[in-house]
Amino acid sequence: MNVLIVFAHPEPRSLNGALLDVAVRELKRLGHEVQVSDLYAQGWKSEVDRADFPSLADGERLQPAAASKQAFEAGTLTPDVKAEIEKLLWADVLILQFPLWWFSMPAILKGWVDRVFAYGFAYGVGEHSDKRWGDRYGDGTLKGKRAMLVVTAGGWEEHYSARGVNGPIDDLLFPINHGVLYYPGYEVLPPFVVYRVDRLDDAGFGPIAEGLRERMRTLATTAPIPYRRQNGGGYLVPSMQLRAGLENPGTSGFALHLDRARNSGQGGKPRPLGSFPRHADSGSSTVDDLAT
Ligand SMILES: Cc1cc2nc3c(=O)[nH]c(=O)nc-3n(C[C@H](O)[C@H](O)[C@H](O)COP(=O)(O)OP(=O)(O)OC[C@H]3O[C@@H](n4cnc5c(N)ncnc54)[C@H](O)[C@@H]3O)c2cc1C
Repeated sequence: MNVLIVFAHPEPRSLNGALLDVAVRELKRLGHEVQVSDLYAQGWKSEVDRADFPSLADGERLQPAAASKQAFEAGTLTPDVKAEIEKLLWADVLILQFPLWWFSMPAILKGWVDRVFAYGFAYGVGEHSDKRWGDRYGDGTLKGKRAMLVVTAGGWEEHYSARGVNGPIDDLLFPINHGVLYYPGYEVLPPFVVYRVDRLDDAGFGPIAEGLRERMRTLATTAPIPYRRQNGGGYLVPSMQLRAGLENPGTSGFALHLDRARNSGQGGKPRPLGSFPRHADSGSSTVDDLAT
C-alpha cells in the first residue's frame, strides 16, 4: 500500500518524532511505500490568503471558497498545495500525526487542511439538488481510501472518558475524524491515542511503540468507525437530519451518526475505542495542569 503520514510537530527529537520513526520503519518493513509530509520541516504556510490564488485580479474581493473552486478547476492552486493533493491521490492510507494542542490539532495542520482540501477536490463535490446533497460523508474524491489519527495527549485517559471533565476523546476528535476525513470519503479507522505522555520514560515507550507497530500492521484490516453514509438513505434531504427512529436507543449528539450495525458482517470486531492508555502513575504534570 501507499501510505502518507502528515506530521505536525516542530521537534524531530520529540516523542512524536520517535513515534513517526517507529511507524515509518514498520510500514517499510512490511513492504509499503511511505511518504511523510513533515509540515514544520517543509515550512508549511498555514494561513489561507491572497497568495494562495495568484490568478485573482488585483483589487478583486477574496472569497476563499469561490477562489479555491476557481483555482482547483483552472489548475492554478499553488505548487505546495498541488504537491499535497498529488500525495493524497497517491496514498491508499492517510495518517495525520500530531500532539493534542488545546483539544485539537496544531494550527499548522489545520492550515494544511484549510489549504489542501480544496473546493472541488475535498468539498463541493457531486450533485447538490433537492434530491442529493453532494458526495460527502461516505462518498467523495477520496472514497476507497483509509485514514487514521495518531495523537499524543498530556491528559489522562480517564479525563477523556465518557464522564471525564475534558469530554470524551471520540467527541473531541469527531470534527477531524468525521468533519475532515469522512467528509471527503475516507473510511476512518479508530485513532491511536497515547495519554499522559509528558512524563513518559524509556520503559513506557516500548509498549506504546509496539501498539503503534501493531496498528501499522493492521491498517488494511482494522474495522473503520461505522459512520453513517450521508447518501445511504438515512438522512432527509435537504435538511440532512437523521430520520427519526434510526438512532440507537438513548444516543444523541455525535453518536447519532454512528451505525453500530455497519461493521457487523464484515468480520470486523465492534470498535475498540482505539486508544492506547498509559497506566503508569506519573502524577500531575505542568502541561496536564495547564490545558488538559
Ligand atoms: C500549546 C499546547 C497545548 C496543549 N493542549 C493540550 C490539550 O488540550 N490536551 C492535552 O491532553 N494535552 C495538551 N497539551 C500537552 C501535549 O499534548 C503534550 O505535551 C504532547 O502530546 C507531548 O508530545 P511531544 O511529542 O511534544 O512529547 P515530548 O515533550 O517530546 O515528550 C514527552 C515525554 O516523552 C519522553 N520521550 C520522548 N521521546 C521518547 C522516546 N523515544 N523514548 C522514551 N521517552 C521519550 C520525553 O522524555 C518526555 O518525558 C498541550 C501542549 C501544548 C504545548
